[in-house]
Amino acid sequence: MNASMIPQINNANNEKSAAAVGPRPEHGGFTLTELMIVIALISFSAAVAAPFWLRARATAQTNGCLKNQQEISFAIGEWALEHRKGQNAPVSYDDIKPYLKRDVFCPAGGRTMEDSYCVSTVAENPACKVSPAIHNHNGDSFSGIMNSGGH
Ligand SMILES: [Zn+2]
Repeated sequence: MNASMIPQINNANNEKSAAAVGPRPEHGGFTLTELMIVIALISFSAAVAAPFWLRARATAQTNGCLKNQQEISFAIGEWALEHRKGQNAPVSYDDIKPYLKRDVFCPAGGRTMEDSYCVSTVAENPACKVSPAIHNHNGDSFSGIMNSGGH
């Protein structure tokens, strides 16, 4: 019983190692080693590229979000000017909607202006609700952030 099992295992191992290191099969397919190398190269490329791709996407989303906030800020300014509102006057979405040229929402997952940004007063800059830690600026100048954020 034992004697009959051992040769079988040896045969299986011999066939496997012959496929792995042997010459290219006659039917023109790839050897196991070639396939393993290709898979390893693809995995390595993906592992190297993924962080760059993720960072590029995050930067694009941040810049898009800041651009939206800038547009909302301009809309608030126009509304305040036209309606003679002071810096502390409360502002709502309905007030500024007519002054926005398009629907603005956070590119990192927002669907509407309401679920993406909060506005409070004329003096207060709009803030992103979707990704507040990354998309909200602390300074008072949008242009400075737009220029430094991309690079
Ligand atoms: Zn955002």
